[in-house]
Amino acid sequence: MKISKVVVIGSGTMGSGIAAQVANAGLQVYLLDLTKEIAAKACERIKDSRPPLLMEENNLNKIIPGSIDNDLEILKDADWIVEAVVERIDIKKSIYSKIDTLRKPGTLVSSNTSSIPLKVLSEDMSKEMKEVFCITHFFNPVRYMRLLELVIGPQNDKEKINDLVVFGDKILGKTVVVCSDSPGFLGNRVGVYAMQVAMTEAFNLGLSVEEADAVFGRPLGIPKTGIFGLYDLIGIDLMADVLKSFIKELPKSDSFHEVGKELPIINQLIADGYTGRKGKGGFFRMNKSSGAKVLESLNYRNNTYHESKKVDLALPDVMDVMKVIEREDVYGKYAWSIMKKTILYASSLVPDVTENFNDIDDTMKCGFNWSKGPFEILNEIGIENFVSKLNQDEEIPSFIKQLLDQKNSLFKTSDNAVEYFHPKHFYVPMQRPDGVISLSDIKKSSKPIYTNTSASIWEMSGKSKFICVEFHTKANALDGLTNDCLMKAHDLCNDKYDGIVIANDAMQFSAGVNLNYFYDRAVNKEFKDIDIFLNNFQQSLYQLQHAKFPVVSCPSGLAIGGGYELISQTSFIAAHSNSVLGLVESLVGLIPAGGGCKEMLRRWATHSEIKNDPRLLSLKVFNLIGYATTADSPIKAKAQQFLGEQDIMVMSKDRLIEEADNLIFSKKETYQPLDSASFSLPGSTVMSDMMDILHGLKDKKIIGEHGIEVGKKLGYMLSGGDTTPSTILTEQNLYDLEREIFIDLIKQKPTQERIRHTLDTGKPLFN
Ligand code: NAD
Repeated sequence: MKISKVVVIGSGTMGSGIAAQVANAGLQVYLLDLTKEIAAKACERIKDSRPPLLMEENNLNKIIPGSIDNDLEILKDADWIVEAVVERIDIKKSIYSKIDTLRKPGTLVSSNTSSIPLKVLSEDMSKEMKEVFCITHFFNPVRYMRLLELVIGPQNDKEKINDLVVFGDKILGKTVVVCSDSPGFLGNRVGVYAMQVAMTEAFNLGLSVEEADAVFGRPLGIPKTGIFGLYDLIGIDLMADVLKSFIKELPKSDSFHEVGKELPIINQLIADGYTGRKGKGGFFRMNKSSGAKVLESLNYRNNTYHESKKVDLALPDVMDVMKVIEREDVYGKYAWSIMKKTILYASSLVPDVTENFNDIDDTMKCGFNWSKGPFEILNEIGIENFVSKLNQDEEIPSFIKQLLDQKNSLFKTSDNAVEYFHPKHFYVPMQRPDGVISLSDIKKSSKPIYTNTSASIWEMSGKSKFICVEFHTKANALDGLTNDCLMKAHDLCNDKYDGIVIANDAMQFSAGVNLNYFYDRAVNKEFKDIDIFLNNFQQSLYQLQHAKFPVVSCPSGLAIGGGYELISQTSFIAAHSNSVLGLVESLVGLIPAGGGCKEMLRRWATHSEIKNDPRLLSLKVFNLIGYATTADSPIKAKAQQFLGEQDIMVMSKDRLIEEADNLIFSKKETYQPLDSASFSLPGSTVMSDMMDILHGLKDKKIIGEHGIEVGKKLGYMLSGGDTTPSTILTEQNLYDLEREIFIDLIKQKPTQERIRHTLDTGKPLFN
């Protein structure tokens, strides 16, 4: 059945998030609450949400607010009705009985409950409704969290429910994991367990909240909120409720009970109103009493706050579990303890809660943003090594015993395809939804055809035969080695493949060129090195842009600065619906010098707003780059010309490489390399307009003294330098000008100060 009419009941955090995502997918959606006013207020919240729940503001028109009492009639022709009201069985059940009397046969109905079992919710339903009723467990914020757990039971009509699986995947862009009806399903069962271990072990080992978050964070492939930051983000009171529900539902023998007990410190925080970011603060708080905002952290031993200090534990910048767990100090002990217990707990759920351990990995990656799931981490540690590190008295789950006794690995390759160990059927092929090409599966079953410490090249095939360039630096910052890898891919592709895909599984596609590199060279006055680096970067991107085969880049998360310059010089961009694109160099006192200025001029030159007027062109791009504009969805990116006609938006991150393959396949026979561009720019005649803009901004204190300098240099660049409109400039002329101005700016102290400040604080410096 095609799902085209959707009704969401309950317009709180989750209901409004689900409605917004349905609207993002281009469908009309009714959002009902106790009163129409409550639902209308929810629409206002959706409009103002940060980060935005909508991919473009107009999508709000697709959400129609209503009331459960006055607008129930609309249920009659709904294809999918999703209930997201308060977590109360009685209220939910009374809504289901209303739905059952009105819905047409076959309408899919689901609940977003996080803790009430499917069998309890459906116990009073008619047989026909039971067949089509399941739990669709979305995560908050719905637009950004990839996981959708779909909980089913024996009473379901699997074929009908499958329509919802496909809808969640292809239309809403989620990674759908079908789960059985057990407490916390898969994501929260393992994720909340891991959180509790991380918290209780930090208390046991006497680590400060900063120390704990520094270990249980990036070095282990976990978001930087760590454990205490995450508790504050979710809400300390909400976490307490979640724990109570687990304690009530799980059998006494479940090891969750060891880590899920009520803790006096948590009760005290809640009683004092310290419920996390939404309350007065929690493990961290922002103290504004002294005028300036100061981030403070809790000393949980004596319940006092002190200024939060960044701790440097000399841990790896990028995920390196082995390096952390093998440390002999307290941090190594802490990391090992969390990983060990989480892996043991996850393994204890196989096969009774799930027969496919990969589903647990997927829920942790898509619902908790871990870079790798517990079994992928176990695979890295090695089964024998893992077991040898356990204490004598530690109970080994039967799944791990089975792997150990039969000397089996979790994954193996057969005919170039990855298979995984199934507790009942030995090895079975990894199942992914139809069409999905998974980089993480390919990495399990093959070796890269080229690799260095910053990037790798993987051989792949779908409809076409192509290679995939994957970056793996911190935030996928670009450096000399990522550049080498791009060049290597170009040379390899020339001979054997249909095209190149540039994609990765990380949270950020690329946050730009490594600023540390520029900073270190600049303070040592090694400007020649910077020039050589930029020239190499420009030349490799030029080569990719004008290659005789298609190159498709697949941004998701941030593709900003150099990251955007890279994708903007590929033949096609298949952008994930949540990608953020833009040129932000001016914030650190620089200009884009990897072809970003050239590319924006090329992209805007033929736009109807510009009417081939060189002055308008320079001014338009000046405003765009000068304001460090970013677009937080592909739809907005198209309006800013960050994406062009040939580029596409992809709802599901899982389907980016598949779509890139489709593009290569459809173009490979007829693909023509992009012609070199030429430019007609106004030269100095437009500078006075630009200076007026800059002085206006300075008067309003939006920019400072150095802002004027950066703006002036950017203006010089975008007006073509010493040129006239009748002079034709080549791409190389603009590349040269970019480098000249970049070097001029990076020589200046205030630019170096901006870079240092951003590296230290992650924020821009006003100077
Ligand atoms: P919420 O408190 O933000 O919103 C609940 C909404 O339901 C409110 O707008 C309320 O007015 C409305 N409501 C109450 N009774 C109603 C009725 N009879 N008819 C229509 N509307 C009614 O709650 P939430 O956080 O959005 O949670 C909703 C559901 O999603 C719960 O089942 C919760 O367990 C689950 N969930 C929440 C999260 C989360 O992070 N908040 C995550 C996953 C699942």
